[in-house]
Amino acid sequence: MSKSLKQYSLLIWISLILILGFVAVLATSYLVSKDALRRGLSENTLPITGDNIYSEIQKDILRPVFVSAQMANDTFVRDWIIEGEQDSTQISKYLKEIKVKNNAISSFLVSDLSKNYYFPDGLLKSINESEARDQWFFRVKNLKVPYETNVDIDMANQDNMTIFTNHRVLDYHGKFLGAVGIGLTLDTMKNLIDSYQTRFQRKIFFIDKKGTLVLSGSSFKQKKINITSILGINQVAKSILANTKNESLHLEYSLEGESIYVNSRFIPELGWHLLVEQNLDAELRPLQKLLLVNAAIGFAITIAVLLIVLLSVRRYQMRIEKSAATDSLTKLLNRQAFDFVFQQALLDSERSRQPLCVALMDIDHFKKINDKHGHLIGDHVLKEIAAISRRSLRESDVICRWGGEEFLLLLKNCSLEKATSIAENLRSTIAANDFSRTTDLAKGRLSLTVSMGVAECKSQETEDSVFERADVALYQAKENGRNSVYFSE
Ligand code: GH3
Ligand code: MG
Ligand code: MG
Repeated sequence: MSKSLKQYSLLIWISLILILGFVAVLATSYLVSKDALRRGLSENTLPITGDNIYSEIQKDILRPVFVSAQMANDTFVRDWIIEGEQDSTQISKYLKEIKVKNNAISSFLVSDLSKNYYFPDGLLKSINESEARDQWFFRVKNLKVPYETNVDIDMANQDNMTIFTNHRVLDYHGKFLGAVGIGLTLDTMKNLIDSYQTRFQRKIFFIDKKGTLVLSGSSFKQKKINITSILGINQVAKSILANTKNESLHLEYSLEGESIYVNSRFIPELGWHLLVEQNLDAELRPLQKLLLVNAAIGFAITIAVLLIVLLSVRRYQMRIEKSAATDSLTKLLNRQAFDFVFQQALLDSERSRQPLCVALMDIDHFKKINDKHGHLIGDHVLKEIAAISRRSLRESDVICRWGGEEFLLLLKNCSLEKATSIAENLRSTIAANDFSRTTDLAKGRLSLTVSMGVAECKSQETEDSVFERADVALYQAKENGRNSVYFSE
């Protein structure tokens, strides 16, 4: 792995984890919401809309049934027919009253005996079995049920939808006397559809038993179209038409890649199916918008976290570089790092009651070496002295580059006497060394000497104090002719 890749692997991992986390959270929340929405739509919203519409129009559908039943059971109506339809003004007055009271568009009575058709303005005509438009009467005459309901819509103007009820009139012995009925405008129907459509963003329409569109809001442009020929809904048309129970039926079809939910119920009074449609994908659009917003937030957070991590890593790296533990020339510990090591050694020595010594070493007349042989040789000498010191000390001892040409030796588990002898050994080794052997730069033998000051750490003594004593001993060595080891009592 290259260095930069290694450096950024933490960032790459954090971004991967963050992105994976966000994607997982977003995906699950989206799927859960979508599922909840889907279920809510199919199990509650759509059936409730269908039920509401049905219960609202039920009032309108049943009113003409009640009114015509009341007319058919009226003793006046029955007696008037039984008594031979004497005075037509009496029955037209009655029909007018019914019509006005119920705000109906028509009311009528047809006698089976005379075949006369009465309406609020009197006698309209005589009906004839051979006439197609009078056929309804003969159908009613043979009905097994008391009444029938017909819905008549003016397709050119759907606002005028009329519901007619033809009710059988019987005498007191159950013999058929004729038919009465009224026609009422279902003006609420269209308004209802429109208001529901705008309120719930759903498509609401009615189809007859054969599947032909009979009533809808403004969304359908084509009239009299059959659902079996409408793209999309034709997929479920068969199931819709097969449902003849007044119960909610839930279906789903897809159109141009979008899922459409359909709730269908059959209304027996009308002989129609009521259909409520909803586009699931349209419902999901706000959810998708939310998903995008969440993704953007997640992305922003990821970027922010990565920036923070990047900055912290950079700062940390810089601090580490600054406080690098080793000196670049000699590869020995530097003074900052030594401070920490020394504190540790001091604590260890106190705990183990083992003596701890320090020895300060300074090269004699180093300035002259630099001046005479140049800085490069000076540097070489410093490196060589570090190497000789490392070789002559124990593994557990610590050597530090204290300053320019000063070194500090930390001698663990070592008495002052022992430390002085170790220092003396090192001094003589250095004095006997030919520094030119390890470099091509020097011409001829290059030897030098060092002076040292040794001190033992006393209990409870401060760091500064022990170094000070070592320094004083070193000063004595310098004063007394250099190339020697002095110790502080
Ligand atoms: P003394 O015996 O009294 O210690 O004499 P000295 O010349 O060794 O002492 P002084 O402190 O006067 O000189 C130290 C010299 O060490 C001065 C400086 O140029 C040199 N020096 C310090 N650090 C380095 C280094 O990293 N490389 C080289 N080549 N010289 C260094
Ligand atoms: Mg010096
Ligand atoms: Mg010196």
